[in-house]
Amino acid sequence: MRPYIFKETNWKRVRDEEYQVAVLPWGATEAHNFHLPFGTDIYESDAIANESARIAWEKKAKVIVLPTIPIGVNTGQTDIKLTLNLNPGTQMSILMDIVESLIAHDIFKLLIMNSHGGNDFKQIIREVGLAFPDMFMGTCNWFQSVDKDQFFENNGDHADEMETSLMLHIHPELVLPIEVAGRGEAKKLKIRAFNENWAWTERKWTRVTSDTGIGNPEKANKEKGEKYFIAITEKLGELLVDLASTAIDDMYE
Ligand SMILES: [Zn+2]
Repeated sequence: MRPYIFKETNWKRVRDEEYQVAVLPWGATEAHNFHLPFGTDIYESDAIANESARIAWEKKAKVIVLPTIPIGVNTGQTDIKLTLNLNPGTQMSILMDIVESLIAHDIFKLLIMNSHGGNDFKQIIREVGLAFPDMFMGTCNWFQSVDKDQFFENNGDHADEMETSLMLHIHPELVLPIEVAGRGEAKKLKIRAFNENWAWTERKWTRVTSDTGIGNPEKANKEKGEKYFIAITEKLGELLVDLASTAIDDMYE
C-alpha cells in the first residue's frame, strides 16, 4: 500500500498524515487507433501520476494522488462508437466538489495532471479559483513536459509513436500487434490559419483521420516508451517537490 496513492492507502494511515499537495489525474475514454485500448489516457494517467508521486514522496514531499477521472472532453469524437464525453461545464462541477472536499481537510494545493488533449483546465481553474480563493490550483500536460522529438521519429498527437511506445512500456498486454494499427494519417484544415498555432477550431475527428489515430505508430517500441516515461516522471516529480515546498503566499521571486 503506497501511502501517496489515495485509493490504496487506508484510514489508519491517512488519519495521521499531513498531506500538502493533492494530485488529480484526468484522462478520457476514447478510441486510440485500432491497436491501443480505449482507456489509454487512463492507464497513462495512473502510471505517470503514481510514479511521479513516488519520486516526490521519496524526497519528503507529502503528496496524495486522487483517483483518476476516467472521462474527458470528447465533443469532437461523439460519432466514434462508444466514445464517452464529459462537457467542460461538468468538469467544472466535479472540480468544485473536489476542491471543497480538500479544503475541508486542510489541503490547499491541487495539481491537475492532464492526460488528454481535449481537456483544458485553464479557464475552469480561473472560475473555481474565484469561488475558492484559498486553494492554489495548477494544471500540467505531461505530454508537453519534455521534447518528444528527442525520443520519437514520427510526430503525432493521438495514438501515435509516443503513446504506443508508452503503452508498450506500461501495459504491453493491452496493445495489439502493430500490423493491426492504421497509419494515423491526418488531414489538415483548408483554412490555413487553423493549422497554425494562433487560430483554433475544434477538429471533427472522423473528418481528420480514418483510423482515429493522428501520427504513425509503426516505429514504436518498449525501450523508447521506457526512456520517455522516466524523463517525464522525473520532471513531474520535480514539479510536485517544488509545489510541496513552496508556500502559497511565497510563490513569486
Ligand atoms: Zn491518448
